[in-house]
Amino acid sequence: MALRPEEVTAIIKKELEKYRTRLRVESIGTVLQVGDGIALVYGLDDVMMGELVQFPGDIMGIVLNLEEDKVGIVILGSEKNIREGDTVKRTGKISQVPVGEALLGRVVNPLGIPIDGKGPIATNRHRPVESPAPGIVQRQPVKEPLQTGIKAIDSMIPIGRGQRELIIADRQTGKTAIAIDTIINQKGKGVYCIYVAIGQKMSSVVTVNETLKKHGAMEYTIIVSASSRAAASLQFIAPYAGCAMAEEFMYSGKHVYVVYDDLSKHAQAYRQLSLLLRRPPGREAYPGDIFYLHSRLLERSAKLTDELGGGSLTAIPVIETQAGDLTSYIPTNLISITDGQIYLENDLFYSGVRPAINVGLSVSRVGGNAQTKAMKQVAGRLRIDLAQYRELAAFTQFGTELDKATQAQLTRGSHMVEILKQPQYSPLPMAKQVMIIYAGTNGHLDDLPLASVLKFESEFYDYMDRNHPDIEKNIEKKAILDDAIKARLDEVISEFKTGFKAAHKL
Ligand code: ATP
Ligand code: MG
Repeated sequence: MALRPEEVTAIIKKELEKYRTRLRVESIGTVLQVGDGIALVYGLDDVMMGELVQFPGDIMGIVLNLEEDKVGIVILGSEKNIREGDTVKRTGKISQVPVGEALLGRVVNPLGIPIDGKGPIATNRHRPVESPAPGIVQRQPVKEPLQTGIKAIDSMIPIGRGQRELIIADRQTGKTAIAIDTIINQKGKGVYCIYVAIGQKMSSVVTVNETLKKHGAMEYTIIVSASSRAAASLQFIAPYAGCAMAEEFMYSGKHVYVVYDDLSKHAQAYRQLSLLLRRPPGREAYPGDIFYLHSRLLERSAKLTDELGGGSLTAIPVIETQAGDLTSYIPTNLISITDGQIYLENDLFYSGVRPAINVGLSVSRVGGNAQTKAMKQVAGRLRIDLAQYRELAAFTQFGTELDKATQAQLTRGSHMVEILKQPQYSPLPMAKQVMIIYAGTNGHLDDLPLASVLKFESEFYDYMDRNHPDIEKNIEKKAILDDAIKARLDEVISEFKTGFKAAHKL
């Protein structure tokens, strides 16, 4: 039996009509109950998970729970004017944010609405806040460094573009400081930055904004802020919103660096929402899918293949621990999801070692591939010097008598610890880092009193800039320390040290 074309068109028309009526019937629901930032809604049978819905008065919500007879919706904003019996409209859209270069220099909330009082954002591009991570064939191994400008990190815990590196520590130990210095260091390096503040005091966000402005870093940075006063729902979507803005850059072949500061507070916001939605609590009362939630977010960081433009998204999640406990639920999750962690320690911080990086517990599992040759050359020795120092320092507390060799190792180690100290807001270019670490690991500083090492360092940079700028340029260009450069360095460092000692009567 053959179908005639008229018949076929008639059937298609009928089907299309049915489709249209179905959509019309099912796209409106009724609020059953509202409270604590959550609305339970009846009648949105066809709604999608994560879909944006609209309450009266243009208040938006996100669908988070699909149940048989109702859906659970988190309200993005104030629930003050939402009442039982109100209608809720589907939008058919997964929640999305504005993206693009127009957002640079701006402070926005997790919905992409500016909160810096500088007027509307001129962009018509949007991306869904949730989107699948790039697959394996779309990626390539990490190969370029993401320079933080921080000596201890670039030398021993190098981060590559496309990597996920966790910053984990107790409160007030300099976590944010590292993230911000890294943003400042991206100036002129063609890396866009996104700072996502989750559950922080508004005053901290303001300080970050001021700091970045002062260092000319807002030009290439977006701040996404859901402060501690914002609804839990906003804190919950903040990292996804930041990630979506970052993806826009990555997929257009650019490099982006994103900080999620911090995911402990993000997990708490999600726990709050989940408990209110009456999901069963799991370990530490977190919902069972918190691991999936964070891994899905961080999996979106990548280094794309050259065919796809070679863009990259580097993610630095921050986690706050309680009394240095790395073994509680959220920290262990994050450690296993990321490619390494920078672990800061209270004791180091208070004894004046800042940044307070515990070199023994911190690792970067992939960044080494991206490190420049010159840095690799000096960093290998540095790790050994420091490891030996830590081991010996534990012994010497007992006042044992020391032989010459041990004493020499202790001296070397303590000088290296001094060299790795670094004040805030002063990231250093790779070549300068290489020069000072070279000086240290080759024993040039061993005979200086510890207290004058930092002064030596800063005067040394000045001296090099003034008298031998070619050496730094050479290291920057060749990215390797050949014998000629090493010989020059040895000679120049000795020459400077003689002058330094004389000037300071050492
Ligand atoms: P929180 O847990 O409150 O978020 P945090 O771990 O992010 O804190 P920061 O706010 O970065 O810590 O730093 C805490 C304090 O230590 C700040 O006053 C900061 O100025 C100071 N600080 C951080 N890093 C350094 C450094 N390298 N040198 C000197 N001071 C520093
Ligand atoms: Mg902080």
